[in-house]
Amino acid sequence: MKAAKHGWLLCLMLFALLCGALGQAIQSRDLTVMGSNFKALMYNGVAYAGLDFATALGLESRITNNTVILTQGGRVIRLDIADNAYAGAARWTNALEINGVRQRSTAAGTGADGKMLIPVKTVAEAAKANTDESGGNIVVNLPQAILGTVSSDKTDQSDRIVLEVDRDVGFASRIEKNELIITLRFTNGSSAPYQVGGKYVDIFDVKQNANKLEARIPIKPDFGFNVFAVAAAQGIPARVIVDVGPRFTRLAVALDSRPSVVVLDPGHGGADAGIVVGNLREKDITLSMARRIAAILAPRGVTIKYTRDADKAVSLEERQNLSLKAAVLISLHVSSMPNTTASGTEIFYLSPDAAAEGILDKGRDALENPKSERDRKLLARFLAPRAASQRLADLISARILSVPEGAAQVSSLSNHTALERAPKAAVVLELGYMSSETDRAVLINPSESAIRAEAIAYAVLEYLGKPVPAKTPTTGQPR
Ligand SMILES: [Zn+2]
Repeated sequence: MKAAKHGWLLCLMLFALLCGALGQAIQSRDLTVMGSNFKALMYNGVAYAGLDFATALGLESRITNNTVILTQGGRVIRLDIADNAYAGAARWTNALEINGVRQRSTAAGTGADGKMLIPVKTVAEAAKANTDESGGNIVVNLPQAILGTVSSDKTDQSDRIVLEVDRDVGFASRIEKNELIITLRFTNGSSAPYQVGGKYVDIFDVKQNANKLEARIPIKPDFGFNVFAVAAAQGIPARVIVDVGPRFTRLAVALDSRPSVVVLDPGHGGADAGIVVGNLREKDITLSMARRIAAILAPRGVTIKYTRDADKAVSLEERQNLSLKAAVLISLHVSSMPNTTASGTEIFYLSPDAAAEGILDKGRDALENPKSERDRKLLARFLAPRAASQRLADLISARILSVPEGAAQVSSLSNHTALERAPKAAVVLELGYMSSETDRAVLINPSESAIRAEAIAYAVLEYLGKPVPAKTPTTGQPR
């Protein structure tokens, strides 16, 4: 018994040695992805392929220190990286994360030539593609997504087009002559013109181009655009959101990342109650919302600082001093406009005034090609906060619009003392109108407040590039 056992062990060791020495002796299988041919390499019986396999599925890929990140519109798939593909295939841990929800899976890892390899079936399934192995080779196909409702909206200095799709899809954008072309990969829809009737976009075309759907939006030379996707959630379709207008500039601003300190600034406090309707006080609403947002962010690696975490007076100077440390500053308030029907959330960010705008435009060009590191830092100091704040405002708006009955509007302000010293992204959030009966009902309702706090917190996570949980914790999703 003993000898036999040792013999077996020796065999195994020899086999391992051979495998190590003959890296090329790995079995391979034919892999067909959306009609393109690849080779899958077998590690411990698990099929692996290079990142070009993900590209063929319309996913964008990026490798960080220990994670492969694949995005399909708003769907973010993260795979842990093991020491190599053998280890990745042998490991069966919570190596996969889809929109913040961890699940068991094999991990990514490098092959013999040092190239990054990802497990074929895991990635296909995460991207909602079908895998068929019945013919001996592996065939992966992604069913075509379907374009649903197309709607439009107006925000300050831009028009918004919302393309609803029945699942998350990868997208790309480019400008050709006077058209902004948004391509939805592997998507079907009817070719038709859509009326926006906005200030900046009147009408645009949707055209089927092979297995892609293209939205062709007329765009003027002095307009920029911003495209982002919101992941499908329970009962809510995936969306690709396109903003077009003079609010955006064509050149992307490089935003530098800093430790994620989020400063929450609950408005008013102490003797200053803010707006009061009956026994409802603005200072209480803002503090309770700040605490709710903090409770979601703090366990996810975000450092929270409050300008006040009790019912006390805080001077403007104290608030501004704290904002200097913020990667994100959120100043919380509530509005009131009696005798009007105004309602919903408003998100304000600081915009440069008209005179500064011209300088900033030149600065953006210079930032693309700075003469020195000092120039780059100076320019970034003046440019980044605007672009960053605008992006944060848009992310919060998109998340609040996803909430049932959620209404949100983004506006820019030419000055606001609470925001002007914040070096990074800074927004004022008016949580609702105390003058609106509907808004008051939402503001005093704990579960409605929880949903909104979550929308805001998740937008901050998204802005900071941190994983965003896919669903509300109340649905019992494992973390
Ligand atoms: Zn206020």
